[in-house]
Amino acid sequence: MKSLESIDQAAEWMKNARHAVAFTGAGISVESGIPPFRGEGGLWARYDPQCLDIDTFLEHPLETWPLIKEIFYDFFGQAKPNPAHIILAGMESAGYLKQVITQNIDHLHQDAGGKKVIEFHGTSRYLICTKCGKRELAAPSLLEILPPRCQVCQSILKPDFVFFGEGIPELAYQASFAETRNADIWLVIGTTGEVQPASYLPGDAKRHGARIIEINVEPSFFTHSVTDIFLCGKASEMMLGLGRALGIHPPQLDAFDSPAVHR
Ligand code: NAD
Ligand code: ZN
Repeated sequence: MKSLESIDQAAEWMKNARHAVAFTGAGISVESGIPPFRGEGGLWARYDPQCLDIDTFLEHPLETWPLIKEIFYDFFGQAKPNPAHIILAGMESAGYLKQVITQNIDHLHQDAGGKKVIEFHGTSRYLICTKCGKRELAAPSLLEILPPRCQVCQSILKPDFVFFGEGIPELAYQASFAETRNADIWLVIGTTGEVQPASYLPGDAKRHGARIIEINVEPSFFTHSVTDIFLCGKASEMMLGLGRALGIHPPQLDAFDSPAVHR
């Protein structure tokens, strides 16, 4: 269902929404050059996910930190928002979107100008002390000598995102499920629905009366269970279509020529 009519219908729903929420996953950042974890070409085909297990990390920071630095700082650190992030931020400032909830840890929604962003799995942008909890910006200087250490208590610093074996940050969890009770439109972009408890959010929103619009290059766990309109295609292309239908064209889009957009 990649028809113009469904983009127009989705735009119409967004226009008339009282409280639209976007829920994003790794797929929205693929066109920024960050692969998803799973599947062909995914990060776990190249790296051992064990480095993100909290017990392994705490026991072996010297061994796990170089891998973490390579994936999340040398590599992720170079990524820039793509048109999908930029149009979402434009929808927020135009008043069409009240909240973004992202499973991503790459900070690209905020880099695109998004203000109302809940980071369900935390962020790679900050490091947090494993002992005293002090949080600091992940500046390159902090990562010159590994493992990085807290300037206050000298304990090991960890990226401030959720490792395997850790719980979801309480505030993000509560705020996200509160949104499912308030939303009348829930826009799902680029997520398989395989990661719990994040994957419960669209179903919960649907049970509370929201209509679900989904963008993905292929059907996900949500497509045949809760989705009302499935926009099949790349996040940037579908969001450019939605943006056009809503008359949204943030100035940052001018930096993208068509080949980059349709990469
Ligand atoms: P995921 O659930 O986030 O799935 C990725 C989805 O993106 C798939 O359904 C795939 O079909 C879709 N997709 C791929 N290219 C797309 C495109 N151009 N446009 C639209 N959709 C596209 O799965 P995951 O990668 O296993 O992630 C697991 C967890 O790790 C999630 O919480 C995820 O957010 C996080 N993660 C974050 C990043 C990041 O911060 N950028 C990167 C990898 C994983
Ligand atoms: Zn400390």
